[in-house]
Amino acid sequence: MTQGFNTRAIHAGQAPDPTTGAVIPPIYQTSTYAQDGIGKLRGGYEYSRSANPSRTALQDNLAAIEGGEYAFSFASGLAAEDTLIRSLLRPGHRIVMSNDVYGGTHRLFNKVHAQWGIEVVPVDMSDLAAFEAALVAAPTQLVWIETPTNPLMTVIDIAAATSLAHAHGAVAVVDNTFASPYLQQPLAHGADFVVHSTTKYLGGHSDVVGGAIVTSDDEAAEKIGFLQNSAGAVSGPFDAWLTVRGIKTLGVRMERHSSNAATIAEYLANHDAIERVYYPGLSDHPGHEIAARQMRAFGGMLSVALKGGAAAALKLAEGTELFTLAESLGGVESLIGYPTEMTHASVKGTPLEVPDNIIRLSVGIEDVEDLLEDIERALSL
Ligand SMILES: *Cc1c(COP(=O)(O)O)cnc(C)c1O
Repeated sequence: MTQGFNTRAIHAGQAPDPTTGAVIPPIYQTSTYAQDGIGKLRGGYEYSRSANPSRTALQDNLAAIEGGEYAFSFASGLAAEDTLIRSLLRPGHRIVMSNDVYGGTHRLFNKVHAQWGIEVVPVDMSDLAAFEAALVAAPTQLVWIETPTNPLMTVIDIAAATSLAHAHGAVAVVDNTFASPYLQQPLAHGADFVVHSTTKYLGGHSDVVGGAIVTSDDEAAEKIGFLQNSAGAVSGPFDAWLTVRGIKTLGVRMERHSSNAATIAEYLANHDAIERVYYPGLSDHPGHEIAARQMRAFGGMLSVALKGGAAAALKLAEGTELFTLAESLGGVESLIGYPTEMTHASVKGTPLEVPDNIIRLSVGIEDVEDLLEDIERALSL
């Protein structure tokens, strides 16, 4: 019987240390390993760019919680994305991606990979007809799905988008950062690869930057492992250990993130200063039905459009006290951001530009009454 999610999150890759019995596998802060003769390695460890036990512990855990055969961890989410793209694509290849992907993903594809001859086509993937038209327009090798999207919380049907990608000869990648594997399991819906910024919900405490790729494709895993070692953007031992520590509580954190965000979304949906709330848990959200089907709960991220335009948005972003004005998301503490000038500054002036009256909330796991009071006070300033 497959163990439940929380059991895997706590135990996978985490056997007590064989020499001392330490319940928590130690941080192997070492670059190299003693060999018992030339080529006689202990457990396959030779040099820490190639493999390190703290990284193995994280990778085994990530594979188990995403339901994949292989996981690879990296120094950042973007390092993971870069390794995946360069493992799978060559000059002349084409990516079709959701049109409001994370700003850094947009920048990596369009400003870096484009220089090596990779074409990038943004499309509204919640519109499956538009998505198929983009696939039919030219041979496409890779489809990049982000759901829910950042910051407008658009929901894409993973099973439908993945089967369209496969029908047109492309592999499907899902950036599962916003949902986390507790809420959404893209490989089970047919995706070929999952990527994460483990900086966000997996780490969960805003104290470590990292990324990951998970897959069950043997041939691709070989290529990814080769490039992980050859280019070397690996996670260090302490970063891997911190991420594992965060993952143990992912399930309980996601439950609280989701219930706090749902309460705040309801409150804001009924507030006079708010034009629109973007949260897939609200029944009038266009992707609500799909989200209810492919997610266990609706997560801790939401965005709001303010009736008072950019001025009102800035006032809210700068007026909260418990919600800290900061980049990033997914930590236990609540954060507030102004995407136009912060996370999405790199897509200003492109079709991916975010309206300037939008504020994004990463709802933490504090007491929700305190969070509501903070927002109410900032909105009345
Ligand atoms: C943060 C983020 C990334 C990039 O990850 P880093 O760890 O910052 O490199 C990619 N995708 C999404 C959805 C993100 O939120």
